[in-house]
Amino acid sequence: MYPVHPDDLKTIWECHDCGRKFFYYSDIAYHVRELRHSKVVSRDYSRKIRDAVFVRRNISLSFKIEGSRSTLDVECKYYPSTEAIVYASVSYSDKKLQRMIEGKPEMMGKVDRYLRELFRGQALKGKSS
Ligand SMILES: [Zn+2]
Repeated sequence: MYPVHPDDLKTIWECHDCGRKFFYYSDIAYHVRELRHSKVVSRDYSRKIRDAVFVRRNISLSFKIEGSRSTLDVECKYYPSTEAIVYASVSYSDKKLQRMIEGKPEMMGKVDRYLRELFRGQALKGKSS
């Protein structure tokens, strides 16, 4: 099972391509992989989350797969008080990378942890660039 953050339960994931909605990221990850849909949008229904202080970022992560470079573009919100990361959109430069990450709890967890470290580091330095 993908470790579900309590705040995940207040987020509804929507497939940008067909508009279907899901409660869990792992479910929509499976959906976009199966139907080869590519974009995930999150809808935030938590008043608590909406009112909380957050940092919004577009982050590109580079991966090297079989000698070629692939990019994961993530648009997300980070809530320093709870260290929650809410994904607004996720897109992949190619299907190879998408297959490598989506529906793979350990890879999605890695991305999650990487982003959290990134935000934590920026918060410590007091930088916002
Ligand atoms: Zn879809």
